[in-house]
Amino acid sequence: MRLSHLRQRLRDLGAKPCHEDRLLRGWSQVGSYDRAHSPAKTFFPLALRNELPAIEAELHGLARLRGEYPATPSPTLPRTTGEGANVALRASSNDDEVARLLVELHDGQMVESVLLPRGGLCVSTQVGCAVGCVFCMSGRDGLLRQLGSAEIVAQVVLARKRRAVSKVVFMGMGEPAHNLDNVLEAIQLLGTQGNIGHKNLVLSTVGDLKVFERLMEGLTHKPSPQPSGGTTSHLTKPASGQVAGYPASGRGGEREKRSSAPVKPALAISLHTTDSALRAKLLPHAPQIAIEELVERAEAYARATSYPIQYQWTLLDGVNDSDAELERIVRLLTGKYAVLNFIPFNAVDGLDYRRPSAERIALMAQTLNQQGIYTRVRDSAGHEIDGACGQLRARGVKVE
Ligand code: SF4
Repeated sequence: MRLSHLRQRLRDLGAKPCHEDRLLRGWSQVGSYDRAHSPAKTFFPLALRNELPAIEAELHGLARLRGEYPATPSPTLPRTTGEGANVALRASSNDDEVARLLVELHDGQMVESVLLPRGGLCVSTQVGCAVGCVFCMSGRDGLLRQLGSAEIVAQVVLARKRRAVSKVVFMGMGEPAHNLDNVLEAIQLLGTQGNIGHKNLVLSTVGDLKVFERLMEGLTHKPSPQPSGGTTSHLTKPASGQVAGYPASGRGGEREKRSSAPVKPALAISLHTTDSALRAKLLPHAPQIAIEELVERAEAYARATSYPIQYQWTLLDGVNDSDAELERIVRLLTGKYAVLNFIPFNAVDGLDYRRPSAERIALMAQTLNQQGIYTRVRDSAGHEIDGACGQLRARGVKVE
């Protein structure tokens, strides 16, 4: 389900922007539709009230918890309680909880979400992935299908039913650039009605020119002028490639204007090497963009938004951990508004890669930091827990 289709359905039931706004806030924040002196039962139009139970049931069915797996024990992380699969969802104020969630979509397909420390959540954007990174399980079966924007938001709703979520990273299964309209639509909702700060929405990509173009377009977007004397223009379905939102009108116009201004997410780039030929082998179906151009385009976005680019680098022993790589990283990233995240590879059955030794990893990070490249070592794919994407789904599919 796409959010633009949900919005249209609400409008067909007589919802005005204020009704859409309240319903989408209630759903995405797992809150009430009631307001002081304005209960939903009198606020929503009758047709919408009548249809609300069916809509809620559909939204609930978009993402269901199929299994829950504790984070792999790590010396730097708290252990989870290991309650196992199919536990009942529960409210929790523990926003440092880490766990991997196997999420079943309405058609039985499964994806993964990962609860991260400090209120973070990693969501999936596709079932499978077409990029085929050689160190990732998600690419094994190729792309099975896209997630609709409502399915992406539904993962946040599912996580929020157990604890607060204040940051969402689009680094789970799938390449966001290959499902960009849905990803941007989800980002737009999460950054407005979903109440998540723009810089806490992190779009991760292997690098695709259309991502840079769409994000830069968003920076120059001006909210549509308020239509004179009416609320009709919001009824127009967004054109393809346009993120859902609606122009300001009447009471509540400021809030609606904020909802229509494009949300500016932070950007993460999966770099993994500075050697173009090696990158083409590691990420076989990523767009072939010169690495220097990738960094220049990312830098332009970083400077325009004041959010540093997060470069992701899965560390593979004997593959991309050489001194020559370090020298090229320094040349490439010196003076750039960027953070480099080293992510030591986690062993996965069926993949022959290994992570470098702890000493080598520490030396690499130290060398770069000494040369002015801000470098961090993360436990796994930005997740800080074991989460080579695709492992859970593979396990879940075998269970079938
Ligand atoms: S690492 Fe990301 S882009 Fe690469 S195959 Fe896995 S999900 Fe796709």
